[in-house]
Amino acid sequence: MLLKISNVSKRFGGVQALKDVNLQVDRGEFVGLIGPNGSGKTTLINVVTGLYKPDTGKILFEGLDITSFPSYRLCKLGIARTFQIPQPFNNMTVLENVLVASEFCSSGDLAYVMEILEEIGLKDKADVLAEKLSLVEKRLLELARALAMKPKLLFVDEILAGLRESEINRVTRILSELNENGITIVWVEHRVHELIKFVRRLVVLHQGLVIADGEPHEVINNKLVVEAYLGKV
Ligand code: ADP
Ligand code: MG
Repeated sequence: MLLKISNVSKRFGGVQALKDVNLQVDRGEFVGLIGPNGSGKTTLINVVTGLYKPDTGKILFEGLDITSFPSYRLCKLGIARTFQIPQPFNNMTVLENVLVASEFCSSGDLAYVMEILEEIGLKDKADVLAEKLSLVEKRLLELARALAMKPKLLFVDEILAGLRESEINRVTRILSELNENGITIVWVEHRVHELIKFVRRLVVLHQGLVIADGEPHEVINNKLVVEAYLGKV
């Protein structure tokens, strides 16, 4: 088992963002994580990747207790994420942005960074300032920065939001190639019908609770899930 989240809760003031969440992810898995707005998806990523400390519960990564580890230690262990809203250094080039991530977390190896840019399809934009990129390119840069950390486990947060059909195909193809190449992926996405073409397991959060976890087609036909989420979209 790669990741084991046990009884994790997180509260913000009056909002119980996560309630006693239990979730396990095996090496090599490609898991979709869905749920209505505000159901706790991003908070779960934030808690696992060290942005927030959980109030209760325990998180194991490769058997190591990483609960409340700071992000810089987690990235060195092989946990990376992308942000819902891309957060590049705007006044740096694409290459510089990815190099910074690589230096921070792994080797800072230029050849490796160029390989990532090639894989992601941003090689010809290497010298372009991040602020000049289109939305899909900014999302891909976000992904490249995460990959520069040589992750074993990658969290992807709504990478398709606002993209056109052709761009969606481009990004989903890249994600499935990354998974085929051995990276375990937990993918938060609102585009459920895109998601289930790729993931082999679907987890549903609702008001901070995991209400379903299993084979994607079974999950999207689950009565609780339809009532809580799908029926309303
Ligand atoms: P999702 O990603 O599923 O849309 P979030 O995890 O972002 O949901 O949010 C879950 C709940 O926690 C929401 O009610 C949100 O307003 C609240 N929340 C998330 N982060 C914070 C924060 N830093 N401070 C206060 N409330 C937060
Ligand atoms: Mg979110």
